[in-house]
Amino acid sequence: MRMDSHSKMRLSDKTLEKIRRHEAGTEGLSYRTITCHHCEHKTIQIFEDSSGHIRAKCKKCGEESTYNLALRRMIVKWNRRGLG
Ligand SMILES: [Zn+2]
Repeated sequence: MRMDSHSKMRLSDKTLEKIRRHEAGTEGLSYRTITCHHCEHKTIQIFEDSSGHIRAKCKKCGEESTYNLALRRMIVKWNRRGLG
């Protein structure tokens, strides 16, 4: 049987399995929100074990931006030191 129609609402077992596999291991991890460079919309949530660069498109303004997670982490450390 051919599947001609493409539906976003129905997830196949394979897709569900993939989602579960990717989410496994995130339990207990803290995460932080990255705001869009352009409009400051809360665009991405990253887990504490994330590193390197990511590229994401903002849902609000539609701008695509690159985020350096290492740089972000340094800023967070500085803030903590400053406050504590
Ligand atoms: Zn934006």
